[in-house]
Amino acid sequence: MTDQSSTPTNFIRQLIDRDLAEGRHGRIVTRFPPEPNGYLHIGHAKSICLNFGLAEDYQGACHLRFDDTNPEKESDEYVNAISRDVAWLGFQWAGEIRYASGYFEQIHECALELIGKGLAYVDQLNAEQMREYRGTLKEPGRDSPYRDRPVAGNLALFAQMRAGDIDEGAAVLRAKIDMASPNINMRDPVLYRVRKVHHHQTGDTWCIYPMYDFTHPISDALEGITHSLCTLEFEAHRPLYDWVIEHCTLPAQPKQTEFARLNLNYTVTSKRKLKQLVDERQVSGWDDPRMPTIAGLRRRGYTPASLRRFCDMVGVARADSTVDMGMLESAIRDDLNQNAPRAFCVLRPVRVVIENWPADQVEMLSGPVHPQDESFGERQIPMTREVWIDREDFLEEANKKWKRLLLGDEVRLRYGYVIRANEVVRDSSGEISEIRCTYDPDTLGKNPEGRKVRGVIHWVSASRNVPCEVRLYDRLFNEANPDKTEEGKTFLDGINPASLTVLKGCVAEESLAGASVGQGYQFEREGYFAVDPDSTSEALVFNLTVGLRESF
Ligand code: ATP
Ligand code: MG
Repeated sequence: MTDQSSTPTNFIRQLIDRDLAEGRHGRIVTRFPPEPNGYLHIGHAKSICLNFGLAEDYQGACHLRFDDTNPEKESDEYVNAISRDVAWLGFQWAGEIRYASGYFEQIHECALELIGKGLAYVDQLNAEQMREYRGTLKEPGRDSPYRDRPVAGNLALFAQMRAGDIDEGAAVLRAKIDMASPNINMRDPVLYRVRKVHHHQTGDTWCIYPMYDFTHPISDALEGITHSLCTLEFEAHRPLYDWVIEHCTLPAQPKQTEFARLNLNYTVTSKRKLKQLVDERQVSGWDDPRMPTIAGLRRRGYTPASLRRFCDMVGVARADSTVDMGMLESAIRDDLNQNAPRAFCVLRPVRVVIENWPADQVEMLSGPVHPQDESFGERQIPMTREVWIDREDFLEEANKKWKRLLLGDEVRLRYGYVIRANEVVRDSSGEISEIRCTYDPDTLGKNPEGRKVRGVIHWVSASRNVPCEVRLYDRLFNEANPDKTEEGKTFLDGINPASLTVLKGCVAEESLAGASVGQGYQFEREGYFAVDPDSTSEALVFNLTVGLRESF
């Protein structure tokens, strides 16, 4: 059934193949159901790639549906950020954006149906009593004294809940299932609660809100979802999902299937914890390039293709596991190695004066935009009397292994001439402010015979360049598993205090003038970098996306 795409098969694809072969469905419909209470993270990317990817491969449809049943925590900002991220990953949802809140009327109908059938009742135990009556994993629960209230009484009370005549916490609607069930989710779960709060979609229309476990199967059925895919923590909720589908009159009978969450080491993937990092200003925002959010990864320079590739590499399994951050990094490195234009950027500049180069002479040198792919063309690099090189590319004394510029010795300026360092000039603090050099006009594009040049370094003209700021990143957490903390500590204790280094006064080659936000480059010998939205007309700002080689 699947096309020739590179996606390997998995147990969900096998299930779909079987359902299609046995005629259970003509066309598959999946959905991605985020709660708009935060920004999406890399774990969500896996769920997005799975749901939208299946719809693409099987020529079905995937819906984007906001599961918005907790009005206090939800907002339009999150709705917008989430939709933007899904679209940016390259997926198109079928039809309009959907909202569980768009089904509040039908969900309410289902509640009335269950009450009418004697399968739901209004409970007036308070929260503490309810907890007590629920029992424990080892002990069965006990029936609420309100459990056998007649249908008419339940209908009247539920109407009062809806009308706003009952205070928050004073009553809930519960399913009447089995207080002795070994599965706590089946011990008369709450279906509706009173919340007198404004909802970002429905305004003040409702003061009762359905619970997720009740809302989700009904929304799936109303949308004709064939395969409702969710993470493993919902496995124990499946009997309740099936119970709702069985006892409410609905147009379809969707099935829930669980798969393993994606966990990544050296970071956290929980919206609650990510929100805490934002709220406590541990990072600059949801899109801080150190965040594992899709918005953060985008700003960092990750491409949609690299995230999709990563999700493919991770695969879909039934057992939870933790994926190495190095795998995510290698996905973007491979992408950028193939697709990023090359450029020179000097991160810690020191001035080189070429004494035998005429003061106002400019020579346009040329280098490949991509060393392995001619279709990228050539870039023009102006050579002038003064150039910047990296402070770390120069030493006054070194042994034979030093492959860069050394006092009294020669190095090649990449795509340019061989220069020799003759002398250093120091400022009042003793730091080298200038390296006085000479160049050999006979060395452009060739190494004269018998000449041993130590190495090749990158450089940027001191009079013709683009000033920039470069932000270097290290992992946000020092702990491989920040969630696992010792007594008395929280995940915040695992934060790496040196995860951001800002380099100001950097210089990039002239051809980068006007580079657009988000564009990625390989800064030769340095790593992969992307243009940050903080860039101004005075200075570009670059984020380190990933190093040239695996560094951990
Ligand atoms: P969080 O715990 O970060 O708040 P969530 O599961 O509460 O995540 P939702 O907005 O409810 O967030 O999730 C939307 C969908 O994404 C759900 O189907 C959920 O199962 C899936 N999802 C969430 N986290 C992961 C993850 N780490 N790996 C794979 N899928 C995930
Ligand atoms: Mg959730």
